[in-house]
Amino acid sequence: MTGTIAVILAGGSGVRLGAALPKQYLAIGGETILRRTVEAFRRHPAIDGVQVVIRPEDRPHYDRATSGLDIRPPVAGGPTRQDSGRLGLEAVAPAGPDHVLIHDAARPFVDAGLIERVIDGLARYPAVIPAVAVADTLKRADGPGSPVGATVDRHGLWRAQTPQGFRFADILEAHRALVGQALTDDAAVAEAAGLAVGLVLGSEENFKVTTEDDLRRAERLVSGPAADIRTGTGFDVHRFGPGEHVTLCGVMVPHSAGLEGHSDADAGLHALTDAILGAIADGDIGVHFPPSDPKWRGAPSHLFLRHAAALVVARRGRISHVDVTLICEAPRIGPHRAAMTARIAEILAIDPGRVSIKATTTERLGFTGRGEGIAAQAVATVLLP
Ligand code: MG
Repeated sequence: MTGTIAVILAGGSGVRLGAALPKQYLAIGGETILRRTVEAFRRHPAIDGVQVVIRPEDRPHYDRATSGLDIRPPVAGGPTRQDSGRLGLEAVAPAGPDHVLIHDAARPFVDAGLIERVIDGLARYPAVIPAVAVADTLKRADGPGSPVGATVDRHGLWRAQTPQGFRFADILEAHRALVGQALTDDAAVAEAAGLAVGLVLGSEENFKVTTEDDLRRAERLVSGPAADIRTGTGFDVHRFGPGEHVTLCGVMVPHSAGLEGHSDADAGLHALTDAILGAIADGDIGVHFPPSDPKWRGAPSHLFLRHAAALVVARRGRISHVDVTLICEAPRIGPHRAAMTARIAEILAIDPGRVSIKATTTERLGFTGRGEGIAAQAVATVLLP
């Protein structure tokens, strides 16, 4: 394959939080930290797969935390973080990705822009880390009650975060060569192997949930001001013409006619694309993909829908729900509904439970009733931060 896989390290035992469960399996705002972390990558359009590394004894917690998510099966980690990182890389090696992002499971607030900055950085460096500048004055001391030994110059000091991005072949080779070296993060493995590590801007919200204070901060973040909830609608019609199938909601449906249009004439996906663009007030499908442009002749409409979804991600939003109604006398939609639901969920990288497909006739009234064409309408609900 070409592409980018996210390896999420969830092998920590989380003893510092003193909780009954390892911290990555604790819930914040009703959802586990691990699921939030996995979802941040799974719904990012530039991520092609998610691989979680776990402690084998945590498997029941893992299964509950990730139920219903289409990700790679988990792999067992090793005694150290470095071992777990290497074992995660070995697990995805057969897929042959170009790039890998290695991320701490306990950083659930990684945002799409940060993920993009790391991936973009890989065009210039074989290894890229996000980091934030140290803002506080640094003191060297043994702890509370002990005297301050020295003030450390903070100039040029940065706090490293994850995801740390790598050209896959380079980091796999580095990890294999440096087994047992007790290096603190994957970038240190890269540095020890002589790879140049580039720095991109991290985010203060991308903190690691380690202490009780962090957990409370995380709770405040997810229960903070309600998201900006947007609703958009879309409508589209295509006329029947010669052909032996129609494409509706990304699924080819055999029929006694085809649909006419400059793309693949998928009225369902066109209505849905317009609904999503409507929810973010960003024009319509014709603005983004002009019919006058020959480039879009015969184009598969999932390209349009995926573009609309990427615009939502770029605004750090997410698609909460979509609902499409297909209006025609024939073909019958029912037998294809499950495939359409799955296809749209796949294109939008959202859970199939967030996709609704409905169909109706118009009692043989009007142009759809006379079998002259197919109409579709759609509603999309989008949450923006
Ligand atoms: Mg259309």
